[in-house]
Order: sequence, then structure tokens, then C-alpha cells
Amino acid sequence: MLDSTPRVVIVGGGFGGLAAAKALRKTDAQVVLIDRQNHHLFQPLLYQVATSALSPAQIASPIRSILRRQRNTTVILGEVTGVDRDRKRVFVDSVDREGVPLEYDYLILATGASHSYFGHDEFAQFAPGIKSLADAVSTRNHVLRAFEQAEAEEDPKRHADLLTFVLVGAGPTGVEMAGALAILVRNALRSEFRRIDPTSARIVLVDAGPRVIGPFAESLSAAARIRLEQLGVEVRLGHAVDHIDADGVIVGGERIASKTVIWTAGVAPSPAGKWLKAATDRAGRVRIQPDLSVQGHPEIFVLGDTASLDQDGHPLAGVAQVAMQQGRYAGRLIHRRIVGASVPPPFRYFDKGTMAVVGKGFAVLQSGRLRLSGFLAWLAWAAVHLEFLAQSSLRVSVFVQWVWTYVTGQRASRLIVNHHGPSSGDSRALRWVGSSRDDSRASFLSHEPSR
Ligand SMILES: Cc1cc2nc3c(=O)[nH]c(=O)nc-3n(C[C@H](O)[C@H](O)[C@H](O)COP(=O)(O)OP(=O)(O)OC[C@H]3O[C@@H](n4cnc5c(N)ncnc54)[C@H](O)[C@@H]3O)c2cc1C
Repeated sequence: MLDSTPRVVIVGGGFGGLAAAKALRKTDAQVVLIDRQNHHLFQPLLYQVATSALSPAQIASPIRSILRRQRNTTVILGEVTGVDRDRKRVFVDSVDREGVPLEYDYLILATGASHSYFGHDEFAQFAPGIKSLADAVSTRNHVLRAFEQAEAEEDPKRHADLLTFVLVGAGPTGVEMAGALAILVRNALRSEFRRIDPTSARIVLVDAGPRVIGPFAESLSAAARIRLEQLGVEVRLGHAVDHIDADGVIVGGERIASKTVIWTAGVAPSPAGKWLKAATDRAGRVRIQPDLSVQGHPEIFVLGDTASLDQDGHPLAGVAQVAMQQGRYAGRLIHRRIVGASVPPPFRYFDKGTMAVVGKGFAVLQSGRLRLSGFLAWLAWAAVHLEFLAQSSLRVSVFVQWVWTYVTGQRASRLIVNHHGPSSGDSRALRWVGSSRDDSRASFLSHEPSR
């Protein structure tokens, strides 16, 4: 350590990590926030980027810019690969160096989650999920390219496969994505093609469970399902996906031919539990104490999607509010320890409610005993999402965009952006394209037309 000022290392600049950093803004400490991305991402609106409603820059901000006025905080672009609990160090891969040790006095791990294919990792190459901006842009490219390819395709028999979109998982993300896709194809694209009818596109939402948005009350699940069906989405429940390949999915023994399958089902926590060699729940999330620390290590805190904590006999959900409230709590607790004040009572999550949007002007909202569906719920959904965007510039930009889209039906960002330059070779091939993180699966997912 360079001086005696305590160092707080925060890994992850998502909802939890950023809230912790902000809670430490007045603390006499060196705060170091490390993230492998240079931006804080508002994941709840990722599906809007994937369906061309918003552009990537409207839902993400550089972490450095968000924390620019916080003089005690340094932001490092790097990937943490391990933790040495005994010597109180994390290991960081940065742009040009690997495994650089960084010492801490307090450590906050808020490294989020990635996709879980429930033991079927082989599905990943054919059914990518949406967790990062690169994923969302890759999905947007793929969806838009499917329409372009169908328009250019001479054989009408192939149109059906190209224009069938299967979403696996009818939780909030799957439902929101299905509704937004339906609006995209039925409104924005409907008059722009000459050889195909975009409104003939099939959107199929499948889930093994008995209802959509399972965590919501039954009446709201039913309302969401009715709304989806009004938008033309086929909802298939009660059967798990048996198989996914380059030609589609098999659900309940039936093959659905599709060139676009999107995974909106499970999530798996980051490897924080392995780094710490700590107790985890069955999903791999680190079991934490009521003060969010790791047992036997009062200086290490784990938050958000990568942590497991029960409240009133139930595990807390992997949602942004939990991560933010935990981040604020951990930041305050560390502050109080540093200034020598008494520690706060155990963490308690205050559930403000949950919402999901289904297409244009319709959402479901559940808060305490309140159950609401329809336009009013959608207004509440829009207000809450605007409020929680990281910077006021994003709030203004997204608000203006939503009003414009609502009035005109036009989408913000319908560009097919190939970061690798024009496809070499066969211009007819339907390829998943995205950032370098997608490189490996881009080659797996490329498939040639059948003839
Ligand atoms: C598509 C989608 C839709 C969602 N919709 C909603 C919604 O409507 N409402 C809601 O409440 N919740 C929603 N969620 C869940 C919500 O986004 C998460 O619960 C929340 O982001 C968890 O916050 P976190 O801080 O734990 O992790 P995250 O916000 O995911 O942040 C983790 C951060 O850690 C960084 N990181 C990870 N590993 C490393 C490493 N090794 N080194 C350095 N940095 C690392 C990542 O880059 C990331 O910035 C949604 C999630 C998704 C994917």
C-alpha cells in the first residue's frame, strides 16, 4: 500500500458495485472500482437494443464518466481472475498485463451473472442470450439480417424458417423481448419490404413452466399472455426445449424450424464463489451473512446476482433493486467501520415491486397488494426505468426516443453493424456477428443456405 488510507476494491461496475462506490464517496479511503467493461449497463433495457428500439449508447454510460466527480475513486478497466483471501489481494488482467496483484483492506465483489443453459451448454452456440451490449447488438444484427435474407431469397419455402423467431424462456426478459419483436415486425418493418410480408413472421415463446412471467401473480401472468397473443406471439408452455441446433428447436417432440433462436431462460452467477473458495448455493451463488460479508471474512462482501441471501425464508431475487440496495448497504457499512462508528443492523431488502412490459403501451405491475396491468402500469414502468438510468443525458435521450417511437412507430437503431467488416465469402450466409467476445460462436453459428 502506498499510504495508510484504507483501500476498498470493488469488482464490478453494475448496479451493485456502482451503488457501493457512490455510498463511499465521502469516505476517507482509496476506492478502486474494476470492471472488464468500460461502461455501466442498464440491463433491463437490453431487449430494446436487441429489437432496434434504442441504440447501445442510450442504455450505457462510461463508469469513469459516472464517477468523474468522486475524487477518492479510481476506475480500472480490467478483468479480475482470482482472489487471495489470506494475503488480501485480487488478480487483475488489464489491456497489456495479466494477473497483476492489487491489495485491498475491504473487498466488494459485485460481478453479476451470465447465462445458464441448465447443463446443455451445447445449446449456447445456436441460441445466444442477451446479457451484454455486444449480445444485444449481435441479436439485433441477426434479426434484421433474417428479414434481409428472406427478401433476397428466391425460394419462398425458406422464408418461413428465416422469419420464425423462437425465444426460449418466458420470464420477464422473454416476454419483453417477444412483445418488442412483435411490435418491430408488425409496425416498423411492415411497409418496407417488397417480396416478403414481415407481418407473416412467427414469434414463438416457449417455456417448461405452466405460465408466463412465473414470479408474478397469476392474474398478471394471464394478462401478459393474453396481450402477447393479441400481438400475434405463439405462447407454448409446459414443455422444456429438448434440443436446439442450426435448424431450430425441438419442443415437446415437435420441431420448430427457425434460423433465430434466442435464449432468455436461466442465469448462472460469476465465479466469485470459486475465487473465494466460499460456500455457495446450488446455483453457485456465494452464501453471504446478514451483513453481506463472507463467513470468516468480515472484510469481503459479495452482492447482487452473484450472492445468495435468504430473507423471511426465501432467497432474494436476482434483480437490480436487490443489487443496488445491497451496494448502498455495503458501502455504508464499510464507511462506518473506517470512521469507527457502530455498524448498522443486518441488511433488509425493501421490495418496491416488479414490472414487465408487453409490447407498446402495456405493462404489468405488482407491488405489495397492488396488481395493475395496461397503460397505467406502462406509464409507471416507463417512469421507473427513466429514473434509474445512470445519467440525466440518457434519461432525456431515452424519453425523447420513446415519445418519437410511440407517435411515429419508427425505430431508433435499425443498423446492421458488422464490426468485422463486410462478410467475406458467401453474402447469403446468415451469421451471428458481434464483438470479439462473439468471435468463437460467430463461426459456429454461421450456416449456409440449404441449397
Ligand atoms: C436482459 C435482462 C433484463 C433484465 N431486466 C430486469 C428488470 O427489468 N428489472 C430488474 O430489476 N432486473 C432486471 N435484470 C436483472 C438485473 O439486471 C440484475 O439483477 C442486476 O444487473 C444485478 O446487478 P449486479 O451488480 O449484481 O450485476 P451486474 O449489473 O450484471 O454487474 C456486474 C458487473 O461486473 C462486471 N464483471 C463481471 N465479472 C467481472 C470480472 N471478472 N472482472 C471485472 N468485472 C467483472 C461486469 O462487466 C458488470 O459490469 C435483467 C437482466 C437482464 C440480463
